[in-house]
Amino acid sequence: MAKKRENEQAQKAFGWASRDPSGILSPFHFSRRENGDDDVTVKTLYCGVCHSDLHTLKNEWGFTKYPIIPGHEIVGFVTAVGSSVHKFKVGDRVGVGVIVGSCQTCDICEQSLENYCPKMKFTYNSTDHDGTNTYGGYSDMIVVHQHFVLQFPENLPSDAGAPLLCAGITVYSPMKYYGMTEPGKHLGVAGLSGLGHIAVKIGKAFGLKVTVISTSPKKEDEAIKKLGADTFVLSSDPAKLKAAANTMDYIIDTIAVVHPLAPFLSWMVGSCIGGMKETQEMLDFCAKHNITADIELISVDNINMVMERLAKSDVKRLGKEATLECITYGGIDDQAVAAAEKLTSTEDEENNIAMESSKVAEKLDQEKKRKNQNSILKPKKKKYRSIHNLYLETNPINL
Ligand SMILES: [Zn+2]
Ligand SMILES: [Zn+2]
Repeated sequence: MAKKRENEQAQKAFGWASRDPSGILSPFHFSRRENGDDDVTVKTLYCGVCHSDLHTLKNEWGFTKYPIIPGHEIVGFVTAVGSSVHKFKVGDRVGVGVIVGSCQTCDICEQSLENYCPKMKFTYNSTDHDGTNTYGGYSDMIVVHQHFVLQFPENLPSDAGAPLLCAGITVYSPMKYYGMTEPGKHLGVAGLSGLGHIAVKIGKAFGLKVTVISTSPKKEDEAIKKLGADTFVLSSDPAKLKAAANTMDYIIDTIAVVHPLAPFLSWMVGSCIGGMKETQEMLDFCAKHNITADIELISVDNINMVMERLAKSDVKRLGKEATLECITYGGIDDQAVAAAEKLTSTEDEENNIAMESSKVAEKLDQEKKRKNQNSILKPKKKKYRSIHNLYLETNPINL
């Protein structure tokens, strides 16, 4: 039995946890391990909200360990590095995705397929090597072994880039695996979900012919004009759908993969997320091609409302209706910057994190500028209670 050490570790942390299958999130004080020789401590700026978060919160897959802090699309900056860490330095902007550990010695790990290692650790709801539970990114900071930290490319926005850490790799990895990287090949994308719209963007960046398959005629404009898909087919038109499908080299069914962790329930099924090398490659690819998620930001104060919206959209999806996907959590506005500075200086005192607050302010300022440049984002003015400013982003979808 793992010893509960949530409050006994070196670094004080704060997040939003659910204590039971109601899935309701509330403020949670806990602790993270001391930054070890191979560790990187990351201060959270944003965290995407994934359907897997919702399903885990509510114990819908039957293996949730409470209390649980979800979140596996984390973008933040480095506040401390261990003595063996040379790839990252304090102040670097980094990403943490779905996994934070593996054995790093087996054949599978040698091939950088850490996501298939039998000792793989999820970013939340896993038991870490030291017996503690892993807690995800709905929290102010995280300590991660350097191998599982990703360099976040300079031109990727932290908020709209965050969902790539799960949704992006979930569609990128099978495209690579099935050779859907050769220009001219024909990709079908079923469902213009959060995953679907990223699949269209990545497909176009590879030079593929992309066809969106949807139940809703209203999606045609979005698919073709906004996302640049080549053709659009209604799934309610079987003859056209069959004709189109016959010319497709591969179809990404974003409805089937909308719960990216589900495949872990049966190990033999298909591909799931990606290894660290491939995830870094995906981030670099998206940065190069200016691919980000379409997002709506929402304050963390509204996290429970967000989860309700997600839950409702799940129900609706079964009835083939609209849904939403991809929420980024974090947030930088004047109040958030002030809160972050305050929080960071407290942490510095308490945890001896070697980060000057002026440097934090500088980083946050850069984030703010970066965000202002991103025209997709229309942050709502909210009253913030803490640094955890969660913003909801939506990609309304139809099958
Ligand atoms: Zn996810
Ligand atoms: Zn391994």
